Amino acid sequence: MLPVVALVGRPNVGKSTLFNVLTRSRDALVADMPGVTRDRHYGVCRLGERPFVVVDTGGLSGTEEALDVLTARQVRLAIEEAQVLVFVVDARDGLLAQDHVILGELRRSGKPIIVVVNKTDGLDLATAMAEFSVFGLAATLPASAAHNRGTEDLVGAIRPLL
Ligand code: GDP
Ligand code: MG
Repeated sequence: MLPVVALVGRPNVGKSTLFNVLTRSRDALVADMPGVTRDRHYGVCRLGERPFVVVDTGGLSGTEEALDVLTARQVRLAIEEAQVLVFVVDARDGLLAQDHVILGELRRSGKPIIVVVNKTDGLDLATAMAEFSVFGLAATLPASAAHNRGTEDLVGAIRPLL
């Protein structure tokens, strides 16, 4: 069985866009409306030497259920299924309270966490990254999923953890 990597994060941070880049598919639904991805999506990332499964856990957000319930479910699924947790945050929104909540849950799992600071395109990188240094996680990488930037470094960071 291939190892599994889960993408976790608030709605609209770019999880599905990152999924598409990693799996080179259009499977994950990307839209300007937050939370439009209805389900988990699975794909295989074949960038680099050894393939791994990527799961886009963003589901059902912003609809009938409260955001914290949805987030909790998403995080639980990710933790259950994955060997590596990729926590996606939004450089444009900056660090929000919900990011802290999600990261707290991920940390409790004891599984390795990589932080992807997405949407850094057009931003000052040092400033964008500095805000997320409070997480204290060594593996904190800048990315622009929409412009396919940072993907190679991300795969490089994931691989030794599988
Ligand atoms: P999800 O809800 O976390 O799955 O987020 P999506 O992948 O659906 O993306 C939400 C919105 O952010 C869409 O309008 C994307 O085009 C946009 N987006 C995703 N990645 C980037 C990025 O790297 N830079 C910018 N500027 N926008 C992005
Ligand atoms: Mg999505």
